[in-house]
Amino acid sequence: MKATVFHGKGDVRVENVPDAAVVRPSDAVVRVTHACVCGSDLWFYRGDAPWEPGWRTGHEFMGVIEEAGAGVRTLKKGDHVFAPFAYSDGTCEFCRKGLQTSCLGGGYWGGADNDGGQGEAVRAPLADATLVKLPAEVANDEKLLRAILPLTDVMGTGHHAALCAGVKPGATVAVVGDGAVGLCGVLAARRLGAARIILFGRHPDRIAVAAEFGATEVVQERGTDAVARALDMTAGGPDAVLECVGNEGSMAMATGMCRPGGAVGYVGVPYGAQQGLDLRRMFGENIALRGGVAPVRAYAEELLADVLAGKLDPSPVFDLTVGLDDVPRGYAAMDAREAIKVMVKL
Ligand SMILES: [Zn+2]
Repeated sequence: MKATVFHGKGDVRVENVPDAAVVRPSDAVVRVTHACVCGSDLWFYRGDAPWEPGWRTGHEFMGVIEEAGAGVRTLKKGDHVFAPFAYSDGTCEFCRKGLQTSCLGGGYWGGADNDGGQGEAVRAPLADATLVKLPAEVANDEKLLRAILPLTDVMGTGHHAALCAGVKPGATVAVVGDGAVGLCGVLAARRLGAARIILFGRHPDRIAVAAEFGATEVVQERGTDAVARALDMTAGGPDAVLECVGNEGSMAMATGMCRPGGAVGYVGVPYGAQQGLDLRRMFGENIALRGGVAPVRAYAEELLADVLAGKLDPSPVFDLTVGLDDVPRGYAAMDAREAIKVMVKL
């Protein structure tokens, strides 16, 4: 089969690899129909995250069950499914708490040992607990499938940020970061009933999507200027701040502008964010910091129900679609910020 393989900084290639196959009875093989390139893939693509040549790539995919192991109970050949970006057993202490990303038996797609989502097929361990079954009628509804695909990561991650920041109906919310996760954070905050949603970002194409998703205001300043604007336009700071980048500047903005007694929900993979923490202010103003890698499996059914009901559609984050052979072009476009998020259509 063909799959995307990492070869080094700025170098991913689509090449032949061994076919995905059932190994353990709890495995299923998913023939991939849709996948994504993610902002977090850019960390290894840019050489900022440890990734070895030969490792598989991609952690966002959906498709059709090609084969189910003898121990798989709830899924069968032909079922349409999507996969959260981590697999999990659904039974351990952490899965039962809705923290599947800390699953004792779980893991992540791609890398040295697992198939990645940017390929023709994936062996899915712990299939029953991990994969989310889709109703048969979505099979040929491309518009609906595009709206479901972000539930594999960015929509669940944006939702996690909003929950961790304590977004409540009527709240004033700030979203730091205008990538796909930040934009989904805007959508999640609106879904949770926020009254004002202020996006901190500056790319015109992304600002347009943010407006469509419910942002009421946009601030293009950064750093201390952005904090001053935020404190001024909200008379003391937003109740909830979603930090969706992970660098020093974004965390400094988030912890610098949050209203006393409020919370920062952080979901950006931390690369320097720890240096941006204004702990002295957080201490003085009782500002909470909650977040982490998002247990999107925990939110899957709830968000899927709203997508199927036509109440939630994060698909505008996809502004470039490529075929499998063109995945390298997708990486290059996201790296150059020419695309917000790339969909791979197989
Ligand atoms: Zn578990």
